[in-house]
Parts: sequence; C-alpha cells; structure tokens
Amino acid sequence: MERTLSIIKPDGVAKGLIGEVLKRFEANGLKVAALKMIHLTKKQAQGFYAVHQEKPFFDSLTDFMSSGPCVVLILEGEGAIDKNRKLMGATDFRKADPGTIRADYASSIEQNIVHGSDAPETARFEIAYFFNALEIVN
Ligand code: ATP
Ligand code: MG
Repeated sequence: MERTLSIIKPDGVAKGLIGEVLKRFEANGLKVAALKMIHLTKKQAQGFYAVHQEKPFFDSLTDFMSSGPCVVLILEGEGAIDKNRKLMGATDFRKADPGTIRADYASSIEQNIVHGSDAPETARFEIAYFFNALEIVN
C-alpha cells in the first residue's frame, strides 16, 4: 500500500472539475485517505515547489498556485504514485495520452489541473507539508 499527494490546482477548481477528478481517482482504485480545500499564500506555494526555485517558470507557477483555492488530498493504493501520474498524463498536456486528466482539461503547460508526487520521498515530504497524522484516515 502506497500513499501519494494530489492537488486539484486553482484552474481545476475554477473549472468545476473537483468531482470529475475525484471520480477518476476512485474509479481507478485510488482511495482518498485525507482531503481539504486550501488557498495557498505565495510563500506556501514557494515552499511546496521549492525543488523548482531555480526554474524560469518558478515565479509564474507560484503566482498561479496561490491565485485561488486548491483541493489537496492523499491517495492510497497499490502503486498509488505511478497510478496517479498515469491518470494525470504528461506535464505538457499536448504530449499527454488521450483520456488523461491533463489531455482532457489542461489549458497550458502551467495550468494543468492536477499535481501528483513523483517518487516515494517527494510523496512523504508533500504529504507532511499539508497534513498531520490526525488528519489522515487509516
Ligand atoms: P506537478 O509537480 O505539478 O505534479 P509535473 O511533475 O508533471 O507536475 P514538474 O516538472 O514537477 O511537472 O513541474 C511542476 C509544475 O510546474 C507543472 O505541473 C506545471 O504546472 C509547471 N511547469 C512545468 N514546466 C513548465 C514550463 N516549462 N512552463 C511553465 N510551467 C511549467
Ligand atoms: Mg512535479
């Protein structure tokens, strides 16, 4: 059993896609172990995406991530990290497989509806960034 952190980004929430995205996770064997809505400050977005602080898109990305509310959730299941990344599709929606969340709904490389942890270590950091033990269901 593995856990991963997912975010329905501000564009996904603004487009009314919370239910659609959650439906895809649940239909594909990923269980929700924690969930909340949060409007990140610029500083909180910078902390979350600190690995990208040297990238040219960092300032724009953190502006976007703090532009409106997000839904943050923990998904649990066998191979949850990879399964979630497959359902999301490639970062660039033009390269994402048909039927993935990003292929269906993203509007740019930046505004791509969802985030998902990319490895066990990042999943641990990202889960702890948003949730304490009392907020996670077993
Ligand atoms: P995420 O970490 O959000 O799940 P990812 O792992 O597919 O996405 P990363 O390389 O980690 O992609 O980039 C983090 C986020 O930064 C992307 O999801 C996207 O919103 C934004 N981003 C990535 N590359 C670019 C780019 N070239 N131009 C603008 N924004 C970008
Ligand atoms: Mg990433």
